[in-house]
Amino acid sequence: MADVILKNVRKNYDPAVLKDTLRNIELNIKEGEFIVFVGPSGCGKSTLLRMIAGLEDITSGELSIGGKYMNDVPPVERNVGMVFQSYALYPHMNVYENMAFGLKLKKMDKETIHKRVSRAAEILGLVPLLERKPKALSGGQRQRVAIGRSIVQQPSVFLFDEPLSNLDAALRVKMRIEIAKLHKELNSTIIYVTHDQVEAMTLADKIVVLSPLKESAESNLEQYGSPLDLYHNPSNKFVAGFIGSPKMNFLDGILVEIGLDKCKIKLNSGDIVTACVDARRGKVGDKVELGIRPEHLVPVDHPDAVGRLSGQVQVAEHLGAESFVYMEVDGKDFTVKAASEIPVDTGDTLEVGVPAQACYLFDSTEQAFPRTAKYNRT
Ligand code: ADP
Ligand code: MG
Repeated sequence: MADVILKNVRKNYDPAVLKDTLRNIELNIKEGEFIVFVGPSGCGKSTLLRMIAGLEDITSGELSIGGKYMNDVPPVERNVGMVFQSYALYPHMNVYENMAFGLKLKKMDKETIHKRVSRAAEILGLVPLLERKPKALSGGQRQRVAIGRSIVQQPSVFLFDEPLSNLDAALRVKMRIEIAKLHKELNSTIIYVTHDQVEAMTLADKIVVLSPLKESAESNLEQYGSPLDLYHNPSNKFVAGFIGSPKMNFLDGILVEIGLDKCKIKLNSGDIVTACVDARRGKVGDKVELGIRPEHLVPVDHPDAVGRLSGQVQVAEHLGAESFVYMEVDGKDFTVKAASEIPVDTGDTLEVGVPAQACYLFDSTEQAFPRTAKYNRT
């Protein structure tokens, strides 16, 4: 079993400075799961992956793979396969030789090598390209060869570090689908790093959200859960703002009424919004932040429109299938996304409806209050 377990893992690159990069990372990754690490640049995603690969020391804490304590085991003995963002293929070798090379180094017999390379080529759609040199391949094809090199090793865990970030947007979407298929085919444990939250949402069984570590924080693991779990129940404002595209809107307000499964918030504008949130751990008069996703705002005459907001339109984008209105509410950027055209232009005032079930609420320490409903727009 290739479960990957991290207990209280910490990384400090420079003990003299006492500044940790990662702290108190607890993960329990089950065999066959597709796990994605997301977070802004510099938060430690690659560091965490490299510690699992054995390319970076673990300062303290414990790593085990398949039930075996791995902290001191050298990379080659961990049975992990790593695919990087920059896929350095050997230019003088063709696709077949590139994939076979690592196995030859291991002195594996020719027949086994041939079986493994052929199988990997089939899975990755590289059969017609086996004779080609890397320079005669597209970026996406080269990345597939790099993945193939890792597949032939039959690792128990695949580690991918932003494998698609060097590809153009269209190719990235195509490769993303290929990687999803690959996971279904191989059924192996995959740990995948990206800063692209759409990649994370579409590929992951579970997402690990990391933030840049604050000196006083207990950990920079913000949340570990399924994509929809993070979308519907982010544990704090950081996760709420990171997961979802376009980003969640935030407005400042004050709690004015607290019920069992609902509360009321008075916004700076004076508007009062009802939220399906259990705010009982707060008290009337507390400062809070209301969160509302761009895709959850509705026309004011919509039956779900319990509260209302209005703002000054900065830019309206009409894309045919959907439209985006970027406006300013209470001095803050506020985005509205709609499936139909919203007939507004720069300078107009737009009034939108706020469904109570669509609201998120955060306390003054940016921790989420529990939501008591989920919103699916009809
Ligand atoms: P990410 O992959 O999330 O962008 P990294 O894991 O590459 O982040 O880096 C996390 C932090 O650790 C950054 O502040 C980076 O400067 C620092 N760091 C990364 N590698 C080293 C290193 N070899 N020595 C010292 N600091 C490093
Ligand atoms: Mg990185």
